[in-house]
Amino acid sequence: MRFAGTWLLTYLVHSTVMLCGVALLSVVRRAERWEEFAWRTAMFGSVITAFIQMYWPPAHSAATASVPVNASGGLLPIVVAAWIVVAVVRLATLARAHRVLRRLVHDREPVAGLAGVPARVSVSRRIMSPMVISDREICLPAWALVELSADELEAVLAHETAHIARHDRAWLYATACVERVLFVQPLNALAASRLRDCAERACDDLALARCASPVALASALARAAEWIIGAPARPLVVGMATHGSLALERVRRILDPAVVRLDGRRRPLRALFAVAALTAVVLLAPVITSGPLVQYTISAHDEAGPFTLTLERGRVVGGTVDGAVARLRQSGDRVEVVPLKGEALRVTLTRDGGITWLSREKGGR
Ligand SMILES: [Zn+2]
Repeated sequence: MRFAGTWLLTYLVHSTVMLCGVALLSVVRRAERWEEFAWRTAMFGSVITAFIQMYWPPAHSAATASVPVNASGGLLPIVVAAWIVVAVVRLATLARAHRVLRRLVHDREPVAGLAGVPARVSVSRRIMSPMVISDREICLPAWALVELSADELEAVLAHETAHIARHDRAWLYATACVERVLFVQPLNALAASRLRDCAERACDDLALARCASPVALASALARAAEWIIGAPARPLVVGMATHGSLALERVRRILDPAVVRLDGRRRPLRALFAVAALTAVVLLAPVITSGPLVQYTISAHDEAGPFTLTLERGRVVGGTVDGAVARLRQSGDRVEVVPLKGEALRVTLTRDGGITWLSREKGGR
Protein backbone atom coordinates (compact mmCIF):
# COMPACT_ATOMS: atom_id res chain seq x y z
CA MET A 1 0.00 0.00 0.00
CA ARG A 2 2.88 2.35 0.82
CA PHE A 3 4.50 1.57 -2.52
CA ALA A 4 1.25 2.56 -4.28
CA GLY A 5 1.01 5.70 -2.14
CA THR A 6 4.59 6.74 -2.91
CA TRP A 7 4.09 6.09 -6.61
CA LEU A 8 0.80 8.01 -6.66
CA LEU A 9 2.32 11.05 -4.95
CA THR A 10 5.35 10.95 -7.25
CA TYR A 11 3.04 10.61 -10.25
CA LEU A 12 0.97 13.61 -9.14
CA VAL A 13 4.11 15.79 -9.01
CA HIS A 14 5.43 14.57 -12.38
CA SER A 15 2.09 14.74 -14.20
CA THR A 16 1.31 18.20 -12.81
CA VAL A 17 4.69 19.52 -13.98
CA MET A 18 4.38 18.02 -17.45
CA LEU A 19 0.67 18.59 -18.13
CA CYS A 20 0.82 22.18 -16.83
CA GLY A 21 3.91 22.72 -19.00
CA VAL A 22 2.14 21.53 -22.14
CA ALA A 23 -1.01 23.52 -21.26
CA LEU A 24 1.06 26.70 -20.80
CA LEU A 25 3.00 26.08 -24.00
CA SER A 26 -0.21 25.54 -25.96
CA VAL A 27 -1.55 28.88 -24.66
CA VAL A 28 1.67 30.80 -25.37
CA ARG A 29 2.37 29.21 -28.72
CA ARG A 30 -0.43 27.18 -30.30
CA ALA A 31 1.27 24.80 -32.71
CA GLU A 32 -0.83 21.95 -34.07
CA ARG A 33 2.24 20.11 -35.34
CA TRP A 34 3.59 19.28 -31.87
CA GLU A 35 0.50 19.58 -29.68
CA GLU A 36 -0.69 15.98 -29.94
CA PHE A 37 2.79 14.57 -29.37
CA ALA A 38 3.36 16.84 -26.36
CA TRP A 39 0.06 15.92 -24.68
CA ARG A 40 0.74 12.20 -25.20
CA THR A 41 4.28 12.54 -23.85
CA ALA A 42 3.01 14.33 -20.75
CA MET A 43 0.04 12.02 -20.13
CA PHE A 44 1.81 8.67 -20.61
CA GLY A 45 5.36 9.81 -19.81
CA SER A 46 4.49 10.88 -16.27
CA VAL A 47 3.24 7.35 -15.53
CA ILE A 48 6.64 5.99 -16.58
CA THR A 49 8.84 8.64 -14.95
CA ALA A 50 7.13 8.09 -11.59
CA PHE A 51 8.22 4.43 -11.71
CA ILE A 52 11.72 5.32 -12.91
CA GLN A 53 12.27 7.82 -10.12
CA MET A 54 11.18 5.27 -7.52
CA TYR A 55 13.53 2.57 -8.81
CA TRP A 56 16.42 4.87 -9.69
CA PRO A 57 17.05 6.55 -6.35
CA PRO A 58 18.34 10.01 -7.11
CA ALA A 59 19.01 10.65 -3.41
CA HIS A 60 22.71 10.78 -4.31
CA SER A 61 22.07 13.58 -6.75
CA ALA A 62 22.47 17.14 -5.56
CA ALA A 63 19.69 18.18 -7.89
CA THR A 64 16.97 16.46 -5.89
CA ALA A 65 15.20 17.29 -2.68
CA SER A 66 13.39 15.06 -0.26
CA VAL A 67 9.77 15.86 0.51
CA PRO A 68 8.52 13.57 3.24
CA VAL A 69 4.80 13.10 3.49
CA ASN A 70 3.14 12.47 6.80
CA ALA A 71 1.63 9.04 6.62
CA SER A 72 1.74 8.35 10.32
CA GLY A 73 -1.90 9.27 10.80
CA GLY A 74 -2.95 6.47 8.50
CA LEU A 75 -4.46 8.87 5.98
CA LEU A 76 -2.34 7.83 3.01
CA PRO A 77 -3.30 4.11 3.11
CA ILE A 78 -6.98 5.12 3.31
CA VAL A 79 -6.58 7.52 0.36
CA VAL A 80 -4.74 4.86 -1.68
CA ALA A 81 -7.37 2.21 -0.87
CA ALA A 82 -10.15 4.62 -1.92
CA TRP A 83 -8.25 5.47 -5.12
CA ILE A 84 -7.87 1.78 -6.03
CA VAL A 85 -11.56 1.06 -5.39
CA VAL A 86 -12.77 4.07 -7.43
CA ALA A 87 -10.27 3.31 -10.23
CA VAL A 88 -11.52 -0.28 -10.50
CA VAL A 89 -15.14 0.94 -10.63
CA ARG A 90 -14.27 3.51 -13.32
CA LEU A 91 -12.41 0.87 -15.36
CA ALA A 92 -15.45 -1.40 -15.05
CA THR A 93 -17.70 1.36 -16.46
CA LEU A 94 -15.25 1.73 -19.35
CA ALA A 95 -15.41 -2.01 -20.05
CA ARG A 96 -19.20 -1.75 -19.94
CA ALA A 97 -19.12 1.14 -22.45
CA HIS A 98 -17.03 -1.07 -24.74
CA ARG A 99 -19.53 -3.94 -24.49
CA VAL A 100 -22.48 -1.57 -25.12
CA LEU A 101 -20.72 -0.24 -28.23
CA ARG A 102 -20.11 -3.75 -29.56
CA ARG A 103 -23.75 -4.68 -28.96
CA LEU A 104 -24.91 -1.45 -30.62
CA VAL A 105 -23.42 -2.39 -33.99
CA HIS A 106 -24.57 -6.03 -33.88
CA ASP A 107 -27.10 -5.29 -36.61
CA ARG A 108 -24.45 -4.12 -39.07
CA GLU A 109 -24.30 -5.48 -42.59
CA PRO A 110 -21.43 -5.29 -45.08
CA VAL A 111 -21.49 -2.57 -47.74
CA ALA A 112 -20.28 -3.63 -51.16
CA GLY A 113 -19.11 -1.58 -54.12
CA LEU A 114 -16.86 0.89 -52.32
CA ALA A 115 -13.53 0.84 -54.14
CA GLY A 116 -10.26 2.17 -52.76
CA VAL A 117 -11.08 1.78 -49.06
CA PRO A 118 -8.40 -0.28 -47.25
CA ALA A 119 -10.88 -1.57 -44.67
CA ARG A 120 -14.18 -3.42 -44.45
CA VAL A 121 -17.16 -1.09 -44.58
CA SER A 122 -20.45 -1.93 -42.90
CA VAL A 123 -23.70 -0.11 -42.18
CA SER A 124 -25.81 0.00 -39.01
CA ARG A 125 -29.22 1.55 -38.39
CA ARG A 126 -28.44 2.04 -34.70
CA ILE A 127 -25.53 4.49 -34.90
CA MET A 128 -25.78 8.18 -35.81
CA SER A 129 -22.17 8.94 -36.87
CA PRO A 130 -19.63 7.06 -39.01
CA MET A 131 -17.15 5.28 -36.73
CA VAL A 132 -14.17 2.96 -36.65
CA ILE A 133 -15.19 -0.21 -34.81
CA SER A 134 -11.94 -2.17 -35.24
CA ASP A 135 -8.56 -1.79 -36.90
CA ARG A 136 -10.07 -3.27 -40.03
CA GLU A 137 -13.66 -2.03 -40.11
CA ILE A 138 -15.52 1.24 -40.60
CA CYS A 139 -19.21 1.31 -39.75
CA LEU A 140 -21.47 3.87 -41.42
CA PRO A 141 -24.88 4.97 -40.17
CA ALA A 142 -27.76 4.07 -42.50
CA TRP A 143 -28.47 7.74 -43.25
CA ALA A 144 -24.96 8.20 -44.69
CA LEU A 145 -25.63 5.85 -47.61
CA VAL A 146 -28.90 7.64 -48.39
CA GLU A 147 -28.13 11.31 -47.79
CA LEU A 148 -24.43 11.77 -48.63
CA SER A 149 -23.25 12.46 -52.15
CA ALA A 150 -20.48 10.31 -53.67
CA ASP A 151 -17.86 13.01 -52.88
CA GLU A 152 -19.09 13.38 -49.31
CA LEU A 153 -19.03 9.60 -48.77
CA GLU A 154 -15.50 9.45 -50.19
CA ALA A 155 -14.46 12.22 -47.77
CA VAL A 156 -16.05 10.41 -44.80
CA LEU A 157 -14.29 7.15 -45.66
CA ALA A 158 -10.98 9.00 -46.12
CA HIS A 159 -11.40 10.53 -42.65
CA GLU A 160 -12.20 7.16 -41.05
CA THR A 161 -9.34 5.47 -42.93
CA ALA A 162 -6.98 8.09 -41.46
CA HIS A 163 -8.20 7.14 -37.97
CA ILE A 164 -7.31 3.50 -38.71
CA ALA A 165 -3.88 4.38 -40.14
CA ARG A 166 -3.07 6.50 -37.07
CA HIS A 167 -4.26 3.76 -34.66
CA ASP A 168 -6.54 6.34 -33.05
CA ARG A 169 -8.84 3.71 -31.58
CA ALA A 170 -5.98 2.12 -29.62
CA TRP A 171 -4.80 5.56 -28.49
CA LEU A 172 -8.33 6.49 -27.41
CA TYR A 173 -8.65 3.32 -25.31
CA ALA A 174 -5.21 3.90 -23.74
CA THR A 175 -6.05 7.54 -23.01
CA ALA A 176 -9.41 6.58 -21.53
CA CYS A 177 -7.75 3.99 -19.26
CA VAL A 178 -5.21 6.53 -17.93
CA GLU A 179 -7.94 9.13 -17.45
CA ARG A 180 -10.19 6.67 -15.62
CA VAL A 181 -7.54 5.11 -13.38
CA LEU A 182 -5.59 8.30 -12.68
CA PHE A 183 -8.62 10.50 -12.12
CA VAL A 184 -6.77 12.03 -9.17
CA GLN A 185 -4.95 14.14 -11.74
CA PRO A 186 -7.72 16.41 -13.12
CA LEU A 187 -5.45 17.65 -15.93
CA ASN A 188 -5.74 14.18 -17.50
CA ALA A 189 -9.31 15.09 -18.54
CA LEU A 190 -7.98 18.20 -20.29
CA ALA A 191 -5.25 16.16 -22.00
CA ALA A 192 -7.78 13.54 -23.16
CA SER A 193 -10.05 16.23 -24.58
CA ARG A 194 -7.17 17.95 -26.40
CA LEU A 195 -5.91 14.63 -27.76
CA ARG A 196 -9.36 13.87 -29.16
CA ASP A 197 -9.46 17.25 -30.92
CA CYS A 198 -5.91 16.76 -32.23
CA ALA A 199 -6.85 13.37 -33.69
CA GLU A 200 -9.90 14.83 -35.46
CA ARG A 201 -7.91 17.70 -36.95
CA ALA A 202 -5.15 15.34 -38.12
CA CYS A 203 -7.68 13.01 -39.78
CA ASP A 204 -9.46 15.96 -41.42
CA ASP A 205 -6.12 17.03 -42.95
CA LEU A 206 -5.20 13.51 -44.07
CA ALA A 207 -8.67 13.14 -45.61
CA LEU A 208 -8.27 16.47 -47.44
CA ALA A 209 -5.07 15.16 -49.02
CA ARG A 210 -7.03 12.23 -50.47
CA CYS A 211 -10.41 13.66 -51.46
CA ALA A 212 -11.28 16.02 -54.26
CA SER A 213 -12.96 18.85 -52.40
CA PRO A 214 -12.74 20.33 -48.90
CA VAL A 215 -16.39 21.36 -49.28
CA ALA A 216 -17.43 17.69 -49.43
CA LEU A 217 -15.59 16.90 -46.16
CA ALA A 218 -16.96 20.01 -44.46
CA SER A 219 -20.55 19.32 -45.50
CA ALA A 220 -20.31 15.63 -44.51
CA LEU A 221 -18.99 16.69 -41.10
CA ALA A 222 -21.83 19.19 -40.71
CA ARG A 223 -24.36 16.45 -41.55
CA ALA A 224 -22.81 14.05 -39.04
CA ALA A 225 -22.86 16.78 -36.37
CA GLU A 226 -26.57 17.33 -37.03
CA TRP A 227 -27.34 13.62 -36.70
CA ILE A 228 -25.59 13.14 -33.36
CA ILE A 229 -27.54 15.96 -31.68
CA GLY A 230 -29.63 14.27 -29.01
CA ALA A 231 -27.86 10.92 -29.40
CA PRO A 232 -26.16 9.57 -26.24
CA ALA A 233 -22.47 10.47 -25.84
CA ARG A 234 -20.18 7.43 -26.00
CA PRO A 235 -16.68 7.61 -24.52
CA LEU A 236 -14.95 5.06 -26.77
CA VAL A 237 -16.13 6.15 -30.21
CA VAL A 238 -13.58 7.08 -32.88
CA GLY A 239 -15.63 8.53 -35.65
CA MET A 240 -16.55 11.40 -37.90
CA ALA A 241 -18.20 13.69 -35.37
CA THR A 242 -18.41 13.14 -31.64
CA HIS A 243 -19.91 15.17 -28.84
CA GLY A 244 -16.46 16.23 -27.71
CA SER A 245 -15.36 17.55 -31.08
CA LEU A 246 -15.91 21.11 -32.13
CA ALA A 247 -17.68 20.52 -35.43
CA LEU A 248 -18.10 24.20 -36.31
CA GLU A 249 -14.47 25.02 -35.58
CA ARG A 250 -13.43 22.01 -37.66
CA VAL A 251 -15.66 23.02 -40.57
CA ARG A 252 -14.07 26.49 -40.54
CA ARG A 253 -10.62 24.96 -40.38
CA ILE A 254 -11.31 22.52 -43.23
CA LEU A 255 -12.46 25.38 -45.46
CA ASP A 256 -9.62 27.74 -44.49
CA PRO A 257 -6.96 27.64 -47.26
CA ALA A 258 -4.43 29.41 -45.00
CA VAL A 259 -4.21 26.50 -42.53
CA VAL A 260 -0.92 24.58 -42.69
CA ARG A 261 -2.10 20.98 -43.00
CA LEU A 262 -0.82 18.15 -40.78
CA ASP A 263 0.84 15.45 -42.85
CA GLY A 264 1.06 12.70 -40.22
CA ARG A 265 4.78 12.13 -40.81
CA ARG A 266 6.91 10.89 -37.92
CA ARG A 267 9.65 13.25 -36.80
CA PRO A 268 12.60 11.65 -34.95
CA LEU A 269 13.57 14.96 -33.34
CA ARG A 270 10.31 14.91 -31.39
CA ALA A 271 11.25 11.55 -29.83
CA LEU A 272 14.60 13.00 -28.77
CA PHE A 273 12.82 16.01 -27.28
CA ALA A 274 10.43 13.73 -25.39
CA VAL A 275 13.28 11.62 -23.95
CA ALA A 276 15.09 14.81 -22.86
CA ALA A 277 11.95 16.20 -21.21
CA LEU A 278 11.19 12.96 -19.37
CA THR A 279 14.80 12.63 -18.21
CA ALA A 280 14.73 16.22 -16.92
CA VAL A 281 11.59 15.47 -14.91
CA VAL A 282 13.14 12.35 -13.36
CA LEU A 283 16.29 14.28 -12.40
CA LEU A 284 14.74 17.54 -11.26
CA ALA A 285 11.34 16.69 -9.76
CA PRO A 286 11.37 16.37 -5.97
CA VAL A 287 11.45 12.84 -4.63
CA ILE A 288 8.33 11.90 -2.75
CA THR A 289 8.47 9.51 0.15
CA SER A 290 5.56 8.27 2.17
CA GLY A 291 7.77 7.69 5.21
CA PRO A 292 6.34 9.16 8.42
CA LEU A 293 7.33 12.60 9.66
CA VAL A 294 7.20 11.49 13.26
CA GLN A 295 10.05 9.66 14.90
CA TYR A 296 9.78 5.87 14.92
CA THR A 297 12.07 2.94 15.62
CA ILE A 298 12.65 -0.16 13.55
CA SER A 299 13.76 -3.24 15.51
CA ALA A 300 15.34 -6.09 13.59
CA HIS A 301 18.05 -8.70 13.83
CA ASP A 302 20.34 -10.54 11.51
CA GLU A 303 22.71 -13.47 12.03
CA ALA A 304 25.08 -11.27 14.03
CA GLY A 305 22.44 -10.13 16.51
CA PRO A 306 19.70 -7.57 17.15
CA PHE A 307 19.83 -3.91 16.11
CA THR A 308 17.49 -0.90 16.08
CA LEU A 309 17.29 2.20 13.94
CA THR A 310 15.34 5.33 14.86
CA LEU A 311 14.18 7.38 11.87
CA GLU A 312 12.61 10.79 11.45
CA ARG A 313 11.83 12.59 8.19
CA GLY A 314 13.84 10.14 6.14
CA ARG A 315 16.95 10.49 8.36
CA VAL A 316 18.37 8.02 10.85
CA VAL A 317 18.60 9.85 14.19
CA GLY A 318 19.62 6.97 16.44
CA GLY A 319 20.68 3.35 16.41
CA THR A 320 21.76 0.47 18.61
CA VAL A 321 23.62 -2.77 17.92
CA ASP A 322 23.29 -5.57 20.44
CA GLY A 323 21.61 -3.10 22.80
CA ALA A 324 24.54 -0.63 22.79
CA VAL A 325 24.35 2.84 21.27
CA ALA A 326 26.12 3.02 17.89
CA ARG A 327 27.57 5.83 15.76
CA LEU A 328 25.80 6.63 12.51
CA ARG A 329 26.96 7.65 9.07
CA GLN A 330 24.33 8.47 6.46
CA SER A 331 24.86 9.31 2.81
CA GLY A 332 21.60 9.67 0.93
CA ASP A 333 19.67 6.47 1.48
CA ARG A 334 22.77 4.52 2.58
CA VAL A 335 23.31 4.23 6.33
CA GLU A 336 26.24 2.74 8.20
CA VAL A 337 25.68 1.89 11.87
CA VAL A 338 29.01 1.56 13.65
CA PRO A 339 29.03 0.03 17.15
CA LEU A 340 31.86 0.75 19.60
CA LYS A 341 32.75 -2.94 19.42
CA GLY A 342 31.85 -5.48 16.81
CA GLU A 343 30.70 -5.38 13.27
CA ALA A 344 29.46 -2.34 11.32
CA LEU A 345 26.00 -2.66 9.91
CA ARG A 346 24.97 -1.30 6.53
CA VAL A 347 21.38 -0.74 5.45
CA THR A 348 19.51 1.16 2.75
CA LEU A 349 16.49 3.30 3.59
CA THR A 350 13.47 2.60 1.41
CA ARG A 351 11.09 5.26 0.17
CA ASP A 352 8.23 3.79 2.18
CA GLY A 353 10.07 4.45 5.46
CA GLY A 354 11.55 0.99 5.93
CA ILE A 355 15.05 -0.45 5.54
CA THR A 356 16.80 -2.99 3.36
CA TRP A 357 19.59 -4.91 5.06
CA LEU A 358 22.87 -4.80 3.16
CA SER A 359 25.73 -6.29 5.20
CA ARG A 360 27.73 -6.46 8.39
CA GLU A 361 31.44 -5.99 8.21
CA LYS A 362 34.02 -7.37 10.56
CA GLY A 363 35.72 -4.74 12.72
CA GLY A 364 33.55 -1.66 13.05
CA ARG A 365 35.34 1.56 12.25
ZN1 LIG B 1 -12.91 11.50 -36.70
